[in-house]
Amino acid sequence: MSETFQTPKGVHDILPLDHEFHTYLKKVVRHRARQAGFRRISTPIFEYTELFKRSIGDDSDIVSKEMYTFEDRKGRSLTLKPEGTAGVVRSYIQNGMNQWPQPVLLYYFEPHFRYDRPQKGRYRQFWQFGFEIIGESDPALDAQCIQLANKINEDLGVDGVFKLQLNTIGTPEARKKYMQVLQDYYVGKERSLCDNCKARLSKNPLRLLDCKEEDCKILAEIAPPMRDYLDKESLAYHEELKEYLDELEIEYEENPKLVRGLDYYTKTVFEFWDKENGSQNAIGGGGRYDDLVELLGGQSTPAVGYSAGVERIIANMKREKVRVPSKDDLHVFVAQLGNEAKKKCLPLIEELREVGIKTMGALGKGSINVQLRLANKFKVDYAVLIGITEVREGTAIIRNMEKGVQETVKMEKVTERLIELIGDKNLDKYSPGELLYS
Ligand code: AMP
Repeated sequence: MSETFQTPKGVHDILPLDHEFHTYLKKVVRHRARQAGFRRISTPIFEYTELFKRSIGDDSDIVSKEMYTFEDRKGRSLTLKPEGTAGVVRSYIQNGMNQWPQPVLLYYFEPHFRYDRPQKGRYRQFWQFGFEIIGESDPALDAQCIQLANKINEDLGVDGVFKLQLNTIGTPEARKKYMQVLQDYYVGKERSLCDNCKARLSKNPLRLLDCKEEDCKILAEIAPPMRDYLDKESLAYHEELKEYLDELEIEYEENPKLVRGLDYYTKTVFEFWDKENGSQNAIGGGGRYDDLVELLGGQSTPAVGYSAGVERIIANMKREKVRVPSKDDLHVFVAQLGNEAKKKCLPLIEELREVGIKTMGALGKGSINVQLRLANKFKVDYAVLIGITEVREGTAIIRNMEKGVQETVKMEKVTERLIELIGDKNLDKYSPGELLYS
């Protein structure tokens, strides 16, 4: 026997049962996004590496150690997208979206790739959905972005697990000043830092504030507070945002140590943390990125966004025992005996499917009993049995699988009777017009 294959380290299949969650999540996101005027965008799975370097920052964890980067045949450096915002902003500029009515509201639901150390809730391919509001700066928009995220958490039944963490990191100029203060503060304390923080101190000192290592945490606790060095405008902006959140009755925790790992943020940053495990199991985060469009070559355009991890949300939905409706369950299994019966079955199966009855059958040979056992395994509500007698008499037997009772009906009445039994509202009708709005 030849060797079997496993998925590469850190990635996994999305099996049918998980797809029930995926589909549900996608519908909730789509529904909420649509209600608020967002339109869907998909950017390519890979982009030029430079896009991520310039936007996320050379010294960020993502760029310095987590990107899947490769060269194409012409030697161009490409990278599988590790996050969604950079590609969306690239697209905004490339497609002249500054000519569209502003702000431009976009959402996505896409796979992303990071060479992370695989562990529970941390994968190398994972799905994120996200929202971007590009073209306006106003704390009311930050509040609406947070509200949308909050609503989705509520819809998915995980709002009780997470707590919103909120901070402002001011303008890049103010932050630069503060980073110098931080570096000065850590002089002489380097020995107590973890290796990661030692390496980050010179390039990305803000990240020392949210390190999870005990010793680093103690030092961060008594570090000079960032707020003391931020510009007045950012602080006023933050106060206004909090007023709006209060107005919307959204609970939050002020977290002056929250910095997010990506360079492009300005002013507002926020994350949804697990109430028990803090940032370890965050399900999503976002913030304002007023300088990114310009940094990537567009005109100066303010923006705010949010992204969330699908796998982590699903894991929490399962933990919270949230049930999702599944549309995959079959209604009917068609069992037949003999070639003549099989010939009658094929058009019947098609007819049933056409009216929205989810049907399988005519799978091969086997006695009626074997097929009925199979019908049980597929957990159908009804079986349609067609044997030699039924073919001769132009009838079929409809069996209620749960009750074990059956009735004989004329072949041409089978569909009508099954619709009656299953109920019109339970049918899975396919109509392109309706699909658009389902
Ligand atoms: P970030 O922008 O890095 O905070 O990512 C936003 C969200 O995506 C996180 O809160 C996680 O829910 C999810 N996420 C990020 N990285 C991973 C990963 N490697 N595996 C699974 N989910 C992830």
